[in-house]
Amino acid sequence: MNKKTSDYRPQTQLVRAGLNRSQFRETSEALYLNSGFVFESAGQAEAAFKGENDSYIYSRYGNPTVSVFEERLAALEGADMCRATATGMAAVFSSIACQLNAGERVVASRALFGSCHFIVDQILPRWGIETVFVDGTDLEDWQAALDKPTKVVFLESPSNPMLDLVDIPAVAEMAHAAGARMVVDNVFATPLFQKPLELGADIIVYSATKHIDGHGRCLGGAVLSDEDFMNEHFIPFYRHTGPSMSPFNAWVMAKSLETLSLRVQHQSAASMQVAEHLEGHAKISQVRHPGLESFPQRELARRQMSGHGTLVTIDLKGGKDAAFKLLDTLDLVDISNNLGDAKSLACHPATTTHQRLSPEERSSLGISDGVVRISIGLEDPQDLLEDLDRALDNI
Ligand SMILES: *Cc1c(COP(=O)(O)O)cnc(C)c1O
Repeated sequence: MNKKTSDYRPQTQLVRAGLNRSQFRETSEALYLNSGFVFESAGQAEAAFKGENDSYIYSRYGNPTVSVFEERLAALEGADMCRATATGMAAVFSSIACQLNAGERVVASRALFGSCHFIVDQILPRWGIETVFVDGTDLEDWQAALDKPTKVVFLESPSNPMLDLVDIPAVAEMAHAAGARMVVDNVFATPLFQKPLELGADIIVYSATKHIDGHGRCLGGAVLSDEDFMNEHFIPFYRHTGPSMSPFNAWVMAKSLETLSLRVQHQSAASMQVAEHLEGHAKISQVRHPGLESFPQRELARRQMSGHGTLVTIDLKGGKDAAFKLLDTLDLVDISNNLGDAKSLACHPATTTHQRLSPEERSSLGISDGVVRISIGLEDPQDLLEDLDRALDNI
């Protein structure tokens, strides 16, 4: 009867963890759409502000609905603590900025989501932080960059849009030897298929906007780590700079976690089906998907991921013209730079998400003009295959 939620298996925790019913005994999680809280007495308020009790004080610091989402995601990750943020970028920025001082050093993998790259490349150097980019797939490059004391190592695996992997345990060891904490952006792997904390990372960040919401409704993010890091570095920064998630968005996200595993398992199986179907197509030079035997880092994918995600990236022989023709002919698959949605979406990274990079930078990341990234949704996979075949025929 009195089993703790943490004793249950992951799918049960996704439905039950963090549930904290009000006096009305509602079935589904209540939505506490309020900014502040009141106290029984001046003494209780004083104690709350001194941190002597765990009353909620103000929704910028914490809110009961936001706590449900945070506890549910922390239970799935096996993390001590989670804090929800307004967007994925708020999670990335606050988790990195909260621990840095002027004069310190950050080493990051080059293949990052565009705005993450901007933070490391443009914002941090303005504050006197030395930032170094490496080829995330090359352990020698990591080792060379980490031969000096470093504060933060930041990476994304699989990366956007080429799905390159970073050997998380190997880089974690080098990061720790250099005195750094390792931050992993785990969006593409999803919380189901890769457990960075178990692989040696110190901090996980998510854009909850992607698979966690999964229905294209709300922006959100999350930071997960151990108590020491959260209490000493993250929470003071979070409380006073205000990247908090709104209770409404947290309510949507918490309800979405209940179906995360069902959705992502389906999308992942469908993405495998699409990748296998497209591999070898006469108009495609390369299909990238961590589940394919032809994937260059297939062995690493097996070692550190328990599934392969929901994206397929293809490189069309006909370059930009062929990519545009494909996108413009697709009927079912929409053109959008979002991902992890119930609706299948495709984009042309070279002219959208990665247009800010120079052609040389794009080519060093393997993003040619023929690359199209496809996020597989929840439609019947057969309809997706027919839509893709028809659009490919039309090139
Ligand atoms: C979308 C995304 C982000 C940013 O998240 P937002 O919710 O859009 O702020 C960061 N990293 C990765 C890998 C993403 O896909």
